[in-house]
Amino acid sequence: MPELPDLLYINRYLNEHLAGRSVTGCEIRQPVVLRLAIDQPPEEMLAGRKIVSSRIRGPFIRVLLSPGAEVILNLMLAGRLQHQKPGGKAEGYRCLSLFLDDSSALHLCDQKLMAKVYIVPEGKTSSIPRYDEQGTDVLSAQFTFDHFEELSTRNRRKQVRVFLTDQRSLSAIGNAYADEILFEAGIHPKTFLRNLDSAMIRRLYGAIGDVLARGADAVRSAGKPIQVKVRNHMKVRNRKGEPCPRCGDTIRREGVRGYDVFFCPTCQPPTRDLFLDWRNIPS
Ligand SMILES: [Zn+2]
Repeated sequence: MPELPDLLYINRYLNEHLAGRSVTGCEIRQPVVLRLAIDQPPEEMLAGRKIVSSRIRGPFIRVLLSPGAEVILNLMLAGRLQHQKPGGKAEGYRCLSLFLDDSSALHLCDQKLMAKVYIVPEGKTSSIPRYDEQGTDVLSAQFTFDHFEELSTRNRRKQVRVFLTDQRSLSAIGNAYADEILFEAGIHPKTFLRNLDSAMIRRLYGAIGDVLARGADAVRSAGKPIQVKVRNHMKVRNRKGEPCPRCGDTIRREGVRGYDVFFCPTCQPPTRDLFLDWRNIPS
């Protein structure tokens, strides 16, 4: 699943290479990925429109077209975008392609068919699930320590990893970077927020910024095509059984709410809940 650093890289690429291009055609091979809020057939609606810019909002990539339309993509678990240059080869399982006036094409590939493409009149995002419910953008000026502290207090009954990946609070941290952030902060993923003192909350806040910035740097400096997922800079994610880069203990994998979670049991020791949790007592 592309996460914030990947999306930043894709977004920048789209703005550098596709903005200003006109759409000459569109091929829909897997209509199941499409969600339309327009009256015309999408091929007709898109042809002739110009790509103005791309932005990201949480997990969404929002491509603005002129006159007034938007293509909003949620790549979900396995969706990839590929920009096929003139003379280049198409890769992957193409669901939808936009053909551009420089003879290049933008393909959405997803063998799992879980990706979603919303085509809407400009600004009409209310029909897009979760789009308007995104919480604080962690890259924005609103994401201050005071605001983060307030959010953590409001969510004090939640486990820290569940909180970090809840897009209604923070927009948006995915599973891979949530593991990296908790490793950086030295916090066990199942810790309840109420058990973190203010120094730990501050450490967690710092880790979010640092880990995402380092991730964005790593993805950018790898300089791969946009369909390639860059993950080799990760310290614990998908590293079960490998030694912790900090202490040498073995990285573990556990399930938290149905998701795989990777952590170091020494660097991220469980925090004991000093108060009795009555919800755990059988009635
Ligand atoms: Zn360790």
